[in-house]
Amino acid sequence: MSSNTVTNPTAKEQLPARESVCHECDLLVAVPALQEGEQALCPQCGNVLAHLPNNPRVGPPVFALTSIIMLMCANVLPFLAINAQGMVNSMSLFEAASVLFSEEYRVLSVLVFLCMQLLPLCCLGLVCYLYLGFRLRRRPPPLAASATRWLFLLLPWSMVEVFLVGVLISLIKIASLAQISVGSGFWCFCVFSLSYLKSMLYLDKGWMWEQIRGPMPEIPLLLEGQNALAQGVTHCHGCDGILLADAVRCPRCQSVVHTRIPHSIEYCVALLITSCILYIPANLLPIMVTESLGTNIYSTILAGVILLWNMGSYPIAIVIFVASVLVPIAKILALFWLCYTVRKGEVHHRRGRTRLYRLTEFVGRWSMVDVFVVAILVALIRMGKLMSIYPGAAAMAFAGVVVVTMIAAMLFDPRLIWDRRPR
Ligand SMILES: [Zn+2]
Ligand SMILES: [Zn+2]
Repeated sequence: MSSNTVTNPTAKEQLPARESVCHECDLLVAVPALQEGEQALCPQCGNVLAHLPNNPRVGPPVFALTSIIMLMCANVLPFLAINAQGMVNSMSLFEAASVLFSEEYRVLSVLVFLCMQLLPLCCLGLVCYLYLGFRLRRRPPPLAASATRWLFLLLPWSMVEVFLVGVLISLIKIASLAQISVGSGFWCFCVFSLSYLKSMLYLDKGWMWEQIRGPMPEIPLLLEGQNALAQGVTHCHGCDGILLADAVRCPRCQSVVHTRIPHSIEYCVALLITSCILYIPANLLPIMVTESLGTNIYSTILAGVILLWNMGSYPIAIVIFVASVLVPIAKILALFWLCYTVRKGEVHHRRGRTRLYRLTEFVGRWSMVDVFVVAILVALIRMGKLMSIYPGAAAMAFAGVVVVTMIAAMLFDPRLIWDRRPR
């Protein structure tokens, strides 16, 4: 069975034809040669098996270098400043994480710093290293296999676009409290975020491993359009290569090989129960405390949404409600349901359930937006007794819900949905 392709006539570079195992439904697919601007989809579940962007050699390093320079500028230039009744306070981008550290929320501070600065910087550094090697040396740079593996491991935890949305929501929230001015660091951060996204959209595991090559075992003749495991082969999640099902470690990328993630359902359910427990304090305890003229106002996530609604900020109230209340609970319920249907041996709606899994994996990280909003407000609104904002205990519990559900989604193996077939 061959995959569906989307063609573009102005093609230059080519990704050679190859056999591929879909990592979401375990179907063995013959992927035809792809030209620039084309992508190949799995005919069974619709998963993107490979895509070759336009200018695959030039785009990523150019945007990654721009992004690194802009991140440096965003950190040293003034980011945001507020003016309330003659008192002025300003913050730098770095302070979005460092102020939480000084407020004794050290774990949260490290998490925010990792997601918005350190991990994006590591990903950008790895992209520059790999692509400049591919381009200048015409062969992979030293340790290219490990660098590529690390790049794709770190990518889900790098949340630049979520932080950008958090900054924009904070701006609207603060605009109702005080006069706000954006510094040149803010514009550098916007350019950094857009260049970062652009450079990451270029990445394709298949194309990168095609440049690196490396040893792969001989595979017997396979039947396309059939289940891979039934033919004694499996997919390497590190490099998308095809390996014998009894392999322990991939010779090319050194990833541990699993035909199915071991104890996937058990781990996933255990983590979902943990996130349910954390969801209670995340919603009942205050996420931030506002001190204004000697009085403290404790606000929970839901109280914050109601306040925004009453102030007339309907779009922001809806965004925070969806991201912080609806998405976590919908994600937990969806994953519980997927685990239940797999355990029950459900054979219907397999494509629909795979789509639901893909959606839960995609939206999960967006719940971090409320944590980022708290981090920015705490760093910016520090004007003593006149008005100051402090983090609340729910911020930590809420970040815990997001991280634990993200790991739960990663440990759920969508191939289990396809293992039971209708008679
Ligand atoms: Zn598939
Ligand atoms: Zn591999």
